[in-house]
Amino acid sequence: PKPAPKIQKNQNLQVFVRCRPLSASEVNQRGISAVDINGQKEIVVQDRCNSKITKTFSFDKVFGPSTPQSEVYQNVVEPLISDVLAGFNCTVFAYGQTGSGKTFTMEGDFGTPKRLSPESNAGLIPRAMCALFDELRVLQAEYTVRISLMELYNEELYDLLSSDEVPPKLRLFDDASRKGSVLVQGLQEVMVHTQSQVLDELHKGSAKRQVAATLMNAQSSRSHTIFTVTVHFKENSADGGEFLRTGKLNLVDLAGSENIGRSGSSDKRAREAASINQSLLTLSRVTSCLVEHQPHVPYRESKLTRLLQDSLGGRTKTSLIATISPSHLNAEETISTLDYAHRAK
Ligand code: ADP
Ligand code: MG
Repeated sequence: PKPAPKIQKNQNLQVFVRCRPLSASEVNQRGISAVDINGQKEIVVQDRCNSKITKTFSFDKVFGPSTPQSEVYQNVVEPLISDVLAGFNCTVFAYGQTGSGKTFTMEGDFGTPKRLSPESNAGLIPRAMCALFDELRVLQAEYTVRISLMELYNEELYDLLSSDEVPPKLRLFDDASRKGSVLVQGLQEVMVHTQSQVLDELHKGSAKRQVAATLMNAQSSRSHTIFTVTVHFKENSADGGEFLRTGKLNLVDLAGSENIGRSGSSDKRAREAASINQSLLTLSRVTSCLVEHQPHVPYRESKLTRLLQDSLGGRTKTSLIATISPSHLNAEETISTLDYAHRAK
């Protein structure tokens, strides 16, 4: 087989792949694995059903089916925590077909424990919050931690942490005081003090997401969920003065990638697909413009990239986790997910 096209080294954008285990129903359907992982960086997918093609890809790191949540966390998010505390904005995206493990990776299974056990199935969001509070506790600084949770569906933004019964629609404005930054009018940014408080808010947010989906007759696979934690802190400088610093971490569970390129059978589905295409394709163009240091970055071409503009490019770090199913039944979709992820860089 041909050697995999090498991925460009870029510290500010990292691309990971996570392959989940075969599910019980895939095993029942006599699903076999179409995916081979060679070492830490290379992955081979064989599409026996459709075009009988074999494709090899290389990424910054490939996580196999038995990789625990803790290991994904340690590789992807742990290194970003110190950046957030140093005042950088960081973003992690989960991209992949519906059922491939995006939500498992981002949220995972968690209750509202006082402490997460390392073996638990808690995903990146609860683990990041836990680590952040641990780090902040030992830091000699005054700080505040705020979280927000938004859903972006059909280019409309909804607040999932609002106390309103029905998640309200939010509007975006350019922030006149900070170039390249947007303001989300009316967004509920909840101040949190403990990890269990965060988990509580997340549970409420998930329930809201269901309410919203039912009201709009939409499936959650057709919306993006954006979790943001913002840390503001006041520190003493060497000369006895004080300075303020803000760092931000966005953890984004993207709409199912199988929607890309689909026209949809009804007007409603066609409109959903068009808006997903717009956001996912713009995201990929934005990241590759940043990698190539292009002067013009098309942030404004989708609400997703506009919303995250201050966290993409410049003094920021971005990671993409492409989640895939190992089953040969999904091989075609898996190849297109990996193509997308590879193109992002
Ligand atoms: P998505 O959000 O991409 O639609 P989910 O995260 O809901 O997919 O995952 C689909 C199913 O597969 C869920 O039941 C989830 O618990 C399971 N799953 C996903 N990834 C893994 C994994 N790495 N290990 C074990 N189970 C997983
Ligand atoms: Mg999901």
